[in-house]
Amino acid sequence: MAIQLVWLKRDLRVRDHAPLAAAAERGPVVVLYVYEPELLAAPDHDASHLRFVNACLAELDRELRARGHDGITFRVGAMPEVLEELHRDVGVEALHSHEETGGALTYARDKRVAAWAKARGVPWFEYPQTGVVRRLRTRDGWARRWQVRMAQPIVETPEALRGGSALARGTLLEERDLGLLPSTKDEALLGGATRGRELLDSFLAKRGKNYRSDMSSPVEGWEGCSRLAPYLAYGALSMREVYKATRVRVDELRAQRVPRKKDPELTAWLQSLSSFEGRLHWHCHFMQKLEDEPRIEFENMSRACDGLRENDHRPELFEAWCAGQTGYPLVDACMRALHAGGWVNFRMRAMLVSFASYHLWLHWRPTSVYLARQFLDFEPGIHFSQAQMQSGTTGINAVRIYSPTKQVIDQDPHGVFIRRYVPELAAVPDAYIAEPWKMPPLEQAAMGFTVGKSYPAPIVDHAEAVAEAKRRVFSQRRTPAAREEAAKVFEKHGSRRGPRTRRTPASS
Ligand SMILES: Cc1cc2nc3c(=O)[nH]c(=O)nc-3n(C[C@H](O)[C@H](O)[C@H](O)COP(=O)(O)OP(=O)(O)OC[C@H]3O[C@@H](n4cnc5c(N)ncnc54)[C@H](O)[C@@H]3O)c2cc1C
Repeated sequence: MAIQLVWLKRDLRVRDHAPLAAAAERGPVVVLYVYEPELLAAPDHDASHLRFVNACLAELDRELRARGHDGITFRVGAMPEVLEELHRDVGVEALHSHEETGGALTYARDKRVAAWAKARGVPWFEYPQTGVVRRLRTRDGWARRWQVRMAQPIVETPEALRGGSALARGTLLEERDLGLLPSTKDEALLGGATRGRELLDSFLAKRGKNYRSDMSSPVEGWEGCSRLAPYLAYGALSMREVYKATRVRVDELRAQRVPRKKDPELTAWLQSLSSFEGRLHWHCHFMQKLEDEPRIEFENMSRACDGLRENDHRPELFEAWCAGQTGYPLVDACMRALHAGGWVNFRMRAMLVSFASYHLWLHWRPTSVYLARQFLDFEPGIHFSQAQMQSGTTGINAVRIYSPTKQVIDQDPHGVFIRRYVPELAAVPDAYIAEPWKMPPLEQAAMGFTVGKSYPAPIVDHAEAVAEAKRRVFSQRRTPAAREEAAKVFEKHGSRRGPRTRRTPASS
């Protein structure tokens, strides 16, 4: 019996799943998930990703069975060898999958799959699932194309799905089965479309009201941000579903407006949802950068930045940053929050990278790979583009150096977040929570707390490190080569919506 093969990648859902719907129309379907050892061993992979993926797969399997299908077929192995085996056993009439904007490993693997499909005469149908456009010639008009994609109707799940191939199903495999150490991120969100939808609903109904003001705070952001990123990264929810649900809510809120009557609550909602929609757009805008220029996973977006940090790696600084032991409470709290649950909000991610790239003068590549493992929502296109943006290597974005002490005053003045993740500082008074090293020795002694012993002294001096970083970055930015590269980068990747360079301050 020849089959239609649906290859699940980062699209772990049944709703709005074009490959599944198209395959089901053509004949009996085998739904395949492959645990690929090469990807599991990659430096950006973490067991927490696998755990999230498995929870999505378990729900997907139940959804398929509820529609009369015999469930996911699991395999471990390299593509396209797995395909060759399936083709030999049951005959693959056509292969269906979503387009993937991944890193170098998945890009190379997809090329091998394409070559296999061509050699075997098996058509491979790839369907877009975000606003990312394949083989894009120009960024002009991209935002309009994004709107068109999002306006397309949701692809409904086929009510009945024919399976019935003679293939052995295989089973879902956990960390130990695949030779990985178990995930230690006990606070991480659980995978699955149902959980994702619950978060979407609670965000749109309640949590999102103050999104615009909450999003920068590591305290309020916990509840006030949508927390949808891992569900989008692994495709438990489609971008279109999230976008459409947001539009429905915006229309509902607008309908509540009373002419000439001020309603601060309604205003807060509408402003927040406008910011949220903007970020859904950014999701694909950043992914498009990697789609258009895969080399930016490894190389500076602006080649004029080559040599800026490449030879300055100091392992002791890198290790202290990775361990959350820099002596800067907010930096350490963020890193330890990531160790515990795989999430911090955007502002804190930006600050972590800024601290590594400017204060510690570390190259973005090792730091971004380390963070990729920590983020439950690791999405290569967003991740590497953002890491470069926060490190000043895109050439087109304003240099923004966050002060890790000012951020405490602005975002966590009472140390709520800091004390949760850096318990050594639990008893430190608010007045010193940003800079515990400034606490007088007598006060330290009275508390049984010693900077340098109970908690590290700062590994670098903020003012000196920032002055040196600015000197290096701005002397590079002034060169003709830097300007030339910036023009090229803008032409290829720049958002056509705002000004050429964001006028954000050099430090904040
Ligand atoms: C250095 C760095 C690395 C990052 N790496 C990732 C990553 O690997 N995966 C990832 O999804 N996001 C990444 N982000 C972007 C952003 O921080 C996260 O998307 C966001 O914090 C996730 O939380 P949330 O789902 O509650 O987002 P919300 O604030 O509720 O936003 C809604 C959705 O919009 C998208 N989004 C939000 N902010 C951005 C942004 N600045 N750029 C692009 N898309 C955005 C995400 O899909 C997010 O789920 C990174 C940011 C920085 C500074």
